[in-house]
Amino acid sequence: MQAGYVALCYHYVRSSTEDPEFPGLLGTTLDAFDEQLRKLADVFEVVSPGRATTYSVEGKLSGPDRVGLLITFDDGLQDHYRVAERLAERGIKAWFFIPTCILTENLPANPIIVHYCLSKYRIDGFLGFYREALEAAGLDDSGLGVSFTRGVDDPWATIGRIKELFRYRLDRPTARSVLLHIYEHSILRDHPDALGRMHLTREQIEGMIGMGHAIGSHSCTHISVGATALGPEEVEEEILGPRRFLEQTFDQPIRAMSYPFGGPRDCLSGESLRRMTDAYDLAFTVEERMNTRSRSPLELGRVMPYSTDTSAGLGDKLLKIVAQDGQGAR
Ligand SMILES: [Zn+2]
Repeated sequence: MQAGYVALCYHYVRSSTEDPEFPGLLGTTLDAFDEQLRKLADVFEVVSPGRATTYSVEGKLSGPDRVGLLITFDDGLQDHYRVAERLAERGIKAWFFIPTCILTENLPANPIIVHYCLSKYRIDGFLGFYREALEAAGLDDSGLGVSFTRGVDDPWATIGRIKELFRYRLDRPTARSVLLHIYEHSILRDHPDALGRMHLTREQIEGMIGMGHAIGSHSCTHISVGATALGPEEVEEEILGPRRFLEQTFDQPIRAMSYPFGGPRDCLSGESLRRMTDAYDLAFTVEERMNTRSRSPLELGRVMPYSTDTSAGLGDKLLKIVAQDGQGAR
């Protein structure tokens, strides 16, 4: 493939009317996803996880002269099973990154709790459950409180503050226990089948592997790896354990991880990851870069499509990245 490949990172792929109990989860609609792939396949050569691995790790170029396009999905979402089927029908192999708590603990990943709770109970409801959870944990909400007055405060700015709180301000065990308290007293109370609505099951993941797709790890509970103080326990639970669990459970070599959240603050440099472990050959961020031979396989770039992206807009964005990073990369 010429010069390298660009990668896409999808999350929710569904229509907003699909699960009326949980409206408004932002993502790409299935129709938009199909159209994006159709249009992008005219310009790029869709590459499998196996080919991307060979290219990134061994630097081997193979196949025709177009720039490669790798398709990836984060968060082990229930939506991904149907997407995997559609891709398989078209002969496309994709990479699915799984937060392993959905299987080891039978519990959802942290941000998915936030998304679903906001979707159903809105900001006011979420903050009510949040205050109860702080109280139950014996935590004083001064400094940890988020206030919101409907009609006065900007909802999107408030949602941003809620996400930042769980991603960066609360420590790992506190964020997890507060979110699980919220989950158990809201979503799970109202929907005993919540986990299956949110995430993939083990059987589904087995089926997806059977279709030819690859899996990788996405930490256990979806922490910001870069922003967390990583002692031996955290490294084991969030970095090494998930890889071993996936490898043993699905009898697959697991060579790749994708960093939860994936921004500069959330990832490690390739060197830092290598000092910590040699368990992974590839690590994906969401830095908008092309993956050329000169790029560290532990700092791979991906582009996250927005729910508002048209296929033309997304194609232009990828071509700009190729123009910027692909020069002389062959
Ligand atoms: Zn994620």
